[in-house]
Amino acid sequence: MIRINDILDQIHSYMPDADTSLVEKAYVYSAKVHAGQKRLSGEPYLSHPLAVAYILSQQKLDLSSITAGLLHDAVEDTLSTIEEIEELFGKDVARIVDGVTKISQIQFQSKIQKQAENIRKMILAMSKDIRVLLVKLADRLHNMRTLQYQRPHKRVKIARETLDIYAPLASRLGIDWMKRELEDLAFSFIYPEEYKELKEAVESRLGERKGYVEEVKEIISRKMAEFGLSCRVLGRPKHLYSIFRKMRRRDVGLDEIYDLIAFRIILKTVTECYEALGIVHSLWKPVPGRFKDYISLPKANMYQSLHTTVIGPYGERMEIQIRTEEMDKVATEGIAAHWLYKEGKILKKDQERQFEWLKRLMEWQKELEDPREFLESVRMDLFPDEVYCLTPNGEIKEFPRGATPIDFAYAIHTEVGHHCAGAKVNGKMVPLKYQLQNGDVVEIITSKQHVPSRDWLKIARTSRARARIRQWIKTEEREKSLALGKDLVQREFKKHRLDFSEFLKEGAEEVSKALSFKSVDDMLIAAGYGKISPNQIVRRYFKIKQVEGLEEEIEKEFEEQQPAKFKKPQGEGIKIQGHDDIMIHLAKCCTPVPGDEVIGYITRGRGVTIHREDCPNVISLEPDRKIEVTWVVDDSSNYPVMLNVITADEKGMLAAVSNAISAAEANILEAKVYTTPDHSAHFTFIAEVRDSDHLKKVISGIKKVNGVMRVDRQQAVA
Ligand code: MN
Repeated sequence: MIRINDILDQIHSYMPDADTSLVEKAYVYSAKVHAGQKRLSGEPYLSHPLAVAYILSQQKLDLSSITAGLLHDAVEDTLSTIEEIEELFGKDVARIVDGVTKISQIQFQSKIQKQAENIRKMILAMSKDIRVLLVKLADRLHNMRTLQYQRPHKRVKIARETLDIYAPLASRLGIDWMKRELEDLAFSFIYPEEYKELKEAVESRLGERKGYVEEVKEIISRKMAEFGLSCRVLGRPKHLYSIFRKMRRRDVGLDEIYDLIAFRIILKTVTECYEALGIVHSLWKPVPGRFKDYISLPKANMYQSLHTTVIGPYGERMEIQIRTEEMDKVATEGIAAHWLYKEGKILKKDQERQFEWLKRLMEWQKELEDPREFLESVRMDLFPDEVYCLTPNGEIKEFPRGATPIDFAYAIHTEVGHHCAGAKVNGKMVPLKYQLQNGDVVEIITSKQHVPSRDWLKIARTSRARARIRQWIKTEEREKSLALGKDLVQREFKKHRLDFSEFLKEGAEEVSKALSFKSVDDMLIAAGYGKISPNQIVRRYFKIKQVEGLEEEIEKEFEEQQPAKFKKPQGEGIKIQGHDDIMIHLAKCCTPVPGDEVIGYITRGRGVTIHREDCPNVISLEPDRKIEVTWVVDDSSNYPVMLNVITADEKGMLAAVSNAISAAEANILEAKVYTTPDHSAHFTFIAEVRDSDHLKKVISGIKKVNGVMRVDRQQAVA
């Protein structure tokens, strides 16, 4: 068991003049509040905070971190309060303890692997002060070291969580030794048999190879010295979990894993590193594709090194890492610890460029005298724009900063969103405009009577919520437009002494189809929106009922009312995602029909033009104004297409081709004949077809006509 003196000695080893009175006071306090509590191992509970504080002192952390380590379980597991901690140990320590307590209180439910990335991000976001995370990791490490005392069913769960959440977090902070230890510990509890087997196998293999490791180290040192480079060479066995993972991934046995040992060459300067790389590659043949330059392109956790794999002296693969002392320190101890004794040194320019957040930290650092003060101000600004919240049963949801309970409600389900009446955050009622905070547990209260309002658009941040709210409003507006349209059309009917309810019973369906609407309701809604005049409906009704005289009268009225361009609603049957009210034209150059691959193009002031995807004109269109569209097939509509037919110059060809088109049930709108000097005849037909299948039928019908040489669909009209 660690004693307080071990911790104090450790602190004095790297901070000889440190005033450790706060640490000692925390020790006394922790002993008092945890008095009588026992660990599952049977040891007094105090052994745990002592061990955690010791791990922190081994990482050479500051006094606040170590003090917080001693107190980290006080608020959660004893009668102590955060206010008391603040009063006795100051704001700084209290903030760290509070952060660790909050992370510990999150209840992560099953599905950990699936949500691991989110949980990691959330913990990072919650650990605003990097020291919160360092204390939490030390806590987890000691718990893993003593996991054998835990109840069996909890062991695997905790080990799994360690593997999925905490080892990657240690890795993210660059604390390599901790990542390796956490992984190997977790491995030994999740796969106890595989662990034992692999451990024994690797140990015996390494025993056999002791001479080999020494030999390689010796060759490297000698070669480097020949070139005037002084270096340290290390040969370290890879950790078991990384070997296990490699075997799993490649589905091979231990015999096929050659590089059980990673060699490391540590030099003084970056230039020397590249020189050493050249020497290694001249000594042993490099394995192609295995060289990685993390010096010029550091990893996100600031890890820097050259990696290469070579064919060693006995024809075996060897992994070799080459780095400077400074890089080695970052690689093994992590960037946080590194900052602490960097004493004001500024990181290299290229690194600054790569890590915007670090750059900002560096700028703060310049203004600070004491690097320790710098560490205290370090904020984990890794995910400044995201907020992570939990459902009451522990599922994590990610939101942009500024998101509100409305966003949360829609993230659960559209219906929950539509009927969101209020929200409880961490058990307390909050207004709907409340901004969600990291770690909030959010419960949505719904009520059938509650429905979205336009105001919600002002407080919803996520596109999902906003789209759903708009959709709801639109549906509601549709209903209003329907009522209005009905009213307007009814009046128009009255004006012409016609019975509107009679019309709805008989004729309305036909009129709506004739006007290319999907339904009577759609037609009435269009009238409500003002997209079509009630008069137009009446007019069409007369046309169908074939009432002479009256029709003329209304026709005249119609001509007066309508602008000339309003001919026939075009492009019904095309849907643009998310936009129902856009004016649509079918492009005249390529005359698309249903079934063709099409693309929409947003014109200036003329709505959307639909082109075939293979239309040559599409290439020259601005990509930004292209929009995805899909056909919604409507049986009643016909679409014009242009066909070029080349036939032998014989009599009766026009009639024969026309007959073939009609036989295929297509209506011919126009036919033109061109004569050419080469004894062939060229025809251009404009025919109406239902869709691309129908078009194919028409074309194959024409091809069967004797004397027809070619049939082409018009590609484009310039
Ligand atoms: Mn603990």
